[in-house]
Amino acid sequence: MKKLGMLMAGACVFVLAQAALAGEASPSDPKAIEAAFDAGVSSQDQLDWLKQMASAPNQVGSPHDKANAEFTLAQFTAWGWDARIETFSVLYPTPLEERLELVGPAPFTANLTEPPIAGDATSARQAGGLPAYLAFGGDGDVTAPLIYVNYGMPADYAALQRLGLDVKGKIVIVRYGAGWRGLKPKLAFEQGAVGCILYSDPADDGYGAGDAYPKGAFRPERGLQRGSVMDMPVAPGDPLTPGVGAVEGAPRIPLSQAKTILRIPAVPISHGDARHFLAGLAGPVAPKAWRGALPITYHVGGKGASAHLVVRSDWSQKPLYDVIAVMKGARAPDQWVVRGNHRDGWVFGAEDPLSGQTALMEEAKALGALAKGGWRPARTIVYASWDGEEAGLLGSTEWAEAHAPELQAKAVAYINTDGNNRGFLDAQASYSLRRLVDEAAADVTDPETGASVRARALAQIQVEALAPDASPELKARAKIAADGGALPTGDLGSGSDYSPFVQHLGIAAINLGFGDEGQSGGVYHSAYDTFEHYDRFGDPGFAYGVALARTSGRLVLRAADADLSPLQFGNLAAAVTAQVEEVRKLVTTQREHAAAVNRLLDRKAFALAADPTLPSGPPDREDAGPTLDFTLLDAAVLRLKKSARAYDAAAAGPIRPASAERVDAILQGVEQSLTDPRGLPGRPWYRHLISAPGLLTGYGAKTLPGVREAIEGRRWAEAADYIGRTAAALDAVSAKLDEAAAILKR
Ligand SMILES: [Zn+2]
Repeated sequence: MKKLGMLMAGACVFVLAQAALAGEASPSDPKAIEAAFDAGVSSQDQLDWLKQMASAPNQVGSPHDKANAEFTLAQFTAWGWDARIETFSVLYPTPLEERLELVGPAPFTANLTEPPIAGDATSARQAGGLPAYLAFGGDGDVTAPLIYVNYGMPADYAALQRLGLDVKGKIVIVRYGAGWRGLKPKLAFEQGAVGCILYSDPADDGYGAGDAYPKGAFRPERGLQRGSVMDMPVAPGDPLTPGVGAVEGAPRIPLSQAKTILRIPAVPISHGDARHFLAGLAGPVAPKAWRGALPITYHVGGKGASAHLVVRSDWSQKPLYDVIAVMKGARAPDQWVVRGNHRDGWVFGAEDPLSGQTALMEEAKALGALAKGGWRPARTIVYASWDGEEAGLLGSTEWAEAHAPELQAKAVAYINTDGNNRGFLDAQASYSLRRLVDEAAADVTDPETGASVRARALAQIQVEALAPDASPELKARAKIAADGGALPTGDLGSGSDYSPFVQHLGIAAINLGFGDEGQSGGVYHSAYDTFEHYDRFGDPGFAYGVALARTSGRLVLRAADADLSPLQFGNLAAAVTAQVEEVRKLVTTQREHAAAVNRLLDRKAFALAADPTLPSGPPDREDAGPTLDFTLLDAAVLRLKKSARAYDAAAAGPIRPASAERVDAILQGVEQSLTDPRGLPGRPWYRHLISAPGLLTGYGAKTLPGVREAIEGRRWAEAADYIGRTAAALDAVSAKLDEAAAILKR
């Protein structure tokens, strides 16, 4: 027997030849199975389901969210799956009272609602939906001076300090972009702010980016972005049940002890509302990089206008409905391939998440049809329609926590999607699954060009890397594409339901979707993310819904039917080698930067370089730090390279069924070897030592997070500690690979 994947083509020629002799496709012929699967995927279903499921507000606790869960369950059951609804009870605040007023010479009250849009019938059906709201913001009634802090990221506070200003006791107004939403009010709170207003500047996703809805796709004057401000880089999931499933009777901590709830009130507003607040600000003119596309002069404020902000929420628990559907494996029923997408939206949620949910349903329908035709997967397949993702990955996290031991013993891989759009395949994956993604993408046809979705993604990366402003990260990906031709899959940060699987439980994961051509960004988390908008601007005709179902369905099929778990380790060894070089360089770069800043401070250069008539101050002195000893990591990386090469070579050879079973048992724990039960500093829920969402980036991934964030924060003892822990984790992987390779070679 051969491992499915790189070798499938060879194996298939033989099987196909046999099938051709018999005059039919064999039920064990992977190519024929995939062709039948492709034929079972339809765009019309997805259009019909999306129209129905996005016809009413469907946030957690709404009647339509429950109706959609029941509809999904009925569909899965009709397609032959063993399906059920798993219910959890989670803390899910909803607004009771919200008010935002500008106090000053030109008083103004924010609208905090999104009026219907001409030509979009759905946008008129908002009854029962959430108004402008940031879930897990604090309750409060504050009146304070208003101050503008640009994107509200650490660099913005450093710039503010140099202007001689701070946010203590003030309400900050901050624009969306440049970092995850939830970091903005958290950083503002840590800097002493008492309230936070988040707004969408038209430069970023409104008329400064393209024509506004309904003429074009972009954010209209009254469009606003809801969202969660839970402290997800510390832990997602129900704040009252950290680490355990929020089932009935689970131990719950009191609300006052919940660590991931914001302490200050916060509200999102449209640029139509924001214009009044920003126009009321006095103080210095905002630095050039801080100015958006509103027709005003942007001032920083701190004097002039004050704001009055009131937020009061209902902090009761709400029910969560996860739909779980199982198709039992014929050969290895205790090995699971898990596939999920969330179902809850902020309002109608047509693009986010229902465009991904309907593609997932399409896969389940096509797999059900294959099973009715006599095919059974070798491993068990589990499909999940998650609830409560938007407020903080609630449905997936609670399910993963409730089933943690079983998942760690059985789950081979978790495959995630979310919103989907017309355009290019974009995937992030655990290193061990990157080859699986690369190979599946090579066999899916792009609906617009007829090339493979892999070829199109590779072309896009390499063409964009030629641009003069291309990022170093994009250039690195383009180099991988040019050198090896493999799809340079990204690193898993956070922002969707894969997080509990990979970062908490250590289960290898993939996240994928299409995008870049479809235009859904301007209605992201707004009441205008409707069927009408999606059908015009997201994925007209649902051709990319079909492409997504064919790509993720292929990943499921191949992971479920591969003779050996579909894992490969050369990519892990190569990636970690590069990451160790990066953090080593980071130490040097930081030391050089510190030396330069401190030298200029000694020479009073900042004062000499400043305009004495404007407020400005010098930056803080920087700590150059000691040298760090990377010997342990260097040795672990060398060993991993050798072990990975040996395992990958052995797995490419012929494999006896008895060996496959033993090797799969060893591989089951291999991604878990990359986790540390003590977790990352200050956030023990995150256990993966190779990738995590950055504490100061939010969704964006940090590789070698324990080591890298300690260096960035100049915590040298912690950096040395995580160098040791990460080296030990890599050694554990090498030991497992050596053991598995020895079995395969026997
Ligand atoms: Zn989503």
